[in-house]
Amino acid sequence: MTIFALVDCNNFYASCERVFNPKLEGVPLVVLSNNDGCVIARSNEAKRLQIPLGAPFFKWKNFFIKNNVKWQSSNYALYGDLSSRVMASLANFCPDIEIYSIDESFLNLFSLNFYDLVEYCQQIKSAVKQWTGIPISIGIAPTKTLAKVANYIAKKETVTGVFDLRDEKIRERVLEDFPIENIWGIGRRNAKRLKEMQIETAKQLRDSNAKDMRAKFSVVMERLIQELQGISCLPLESVQARKQIMSSRSFGHSVIKLEELEQALSSYVARACYKLRQQKSRAKGIYVFLHTSMFNEKDLRYANSITRQFPESSNHTGYIISHAKSCLRKIYKPGYKYQKTGLMLLDLIDDQISQYDLFSENNSIKSDKLMQTIDLINIKYGRNTVFSSSQGITQPWKMKANFISPCYTTRWNDLVKVI
Ligand SMILES: [Mg+2]
Repeated sequence: MTIFALVDCNNFYASCERVFNPKLEGVPLVVLSNNDGCVIARSNEAKRLQIPLGAPFFKWKNFFIKNNVKWQSSNYALYGDLSSRVMASLANFCPDIEIYSIDESFLNLFSLNFYDLVEYCQQIKSAVKQWTGIPISIGIAPTKTLAKVANYIAKKETVTGVFDLRDEKIRERVLEDFPIENIWGIGRRNAKRLKEMQIETAKQLRDSNAKDMRAKFSVVMERLIQELQGISCLPLESVQARKQIMSSRSFGHSVIKLEELEQALSSYVARACYKLRQQKSRAKGIYVFLHTSMFNEKDLRYANSITRQFPESSNHTGYIISHAKSCLRKIYKPGYKYQKTGLMLLDLIDDQISQYDLFSENNSIKSDKLMQTIDLINIKYGRNTVFSSSQGITQPWKMKANFISPCYTTRWNDLVKVI
């Protein structure tokens, strides 16, 4: 048996910005994407002003000024850190947890069913707010899909921020009014197809014939219908190591020189390798890409990529940087204005079961120790306290973030001062 709770942080990025900056409380607030391009998160006040997601900053700037809307560059170091604090707090209340995204988690509350779960979730909510400063909403239901619905209602229609969808009568009423396009996992295209079949609400979908729908759509649709019926098909997936790790960024301005591209790529490799080691894996290969802007009509366009297998699996930053750079040199062409480069670490395996090359000259025990030490220093004294010289010192290619908040929780120099 399962009782799921979907915990979702309200307007997560905007809420993070408010934790250490009370001036942003109660005013319309938006968070901008990389390079301060467009709006990616909004406070409730900003939503009320009908600022859409994706609104381009340069077009909306005057509107923001006129309406006293505050804006911030995105600060992923802060969001990532607050996210782990929220998740750690949740794990205190319920060890059966699946971290679904940076701001969402599923809990299986079944083993805690001797509590009044609504009250228990209220406690979780106030504890998380008190410990981290982040407001959350919780939806309770017998399946993950229904827990998503419950969370939606919790956020939109309750004052308490907790909504329980376990009672069948309540579920009946809610599903009747719940549009299919808001159901978890129904894409725009499926929503359109379903509407053409006169299926417009979650209740209508629930009451459709699951087997027929499987034939018309797929087994995923069948499962979704069962989930709406209260039959749990999607179990809690506990933390799973990622199969690939991606790291890339757009440049603040276009980059022409190979040397700068190499620096940028090396920095992304360093970040990816850190994540690789955190999840205790090694990579067996790498995919490297670069491209110019694909929208700029005036300049010549070019894009290329390359994949390479390593002679032996590794999580050593220096080793992977040297492969990444040699891949980059193979696809780099001079004279283009590049907008982005990046990489993906491929074929990740558990670092305990790695097979070493018999003829390898790398002393992997020594190199593991070195990497562990570097990671420890960087965790303790802040990111990039120790870094590879190929990442460059001045990093002119870095993206724009003119309105970024301090890294309150991950950088000593950015700690909040109380005067
Ligand atoms: Mg959210």
